[in-house]
Amino acid sequence: MNGKNKDCIFCKIIAGEIPSEKIYEDDKIFAFYDINPVAPVHVLIIPKIHIESLNGVNPENIGYVARILEKTPEIAKSAGIFESGYRVVTNIGEDGRQSVLHLHFHVIGGRKLTWSF
Ligand code: 5GP
Ligand code: ZN
Repeated sequence: MNGKNKDCIFCKIIAGEIPSEKIYEDDKIFAFYDINPVAPVHVLIIPKIHIESLNGVNPENIGYVARILEKTPEIAKSAGIFESGYRVVTNIGEDGRQSVLHLHFHVIGGRKLTWSF
């Protein structure tokens, strides 16, 4: 599904209906700090349209994903982890332990990570 999903918490965050600590926004993407960080720096980057997960990417909406990847280093720089390094993760579906069904990329760093963070 494209556009906005009225029951989606990340669509509500984009709309400002749920407050968040924003770090970056442009016409296609929105980035904010995770409410339950797994490391000293934990940012989420999301497209401004409702794409359920990476499984929902198609030729029409790939521009949103491209923008996320294009801007990730800049957002990492703003979060202070560009030089030290970081990890980018997107969880997909049940076995991937995706809990919010709006595509998001975790940007995690601020200490030396283990494989399980
Ligand atoms: P997932 O488990 O789906 O890959 O990641 C969802 C992430 O969204 C989790 O890390 C969780 O802490 C975060 N999250 C869930 N609800 C909210 C919220 O209302 N605000 C913020 N900032 N993060 C949220
Ligand atoms: Zn959504």
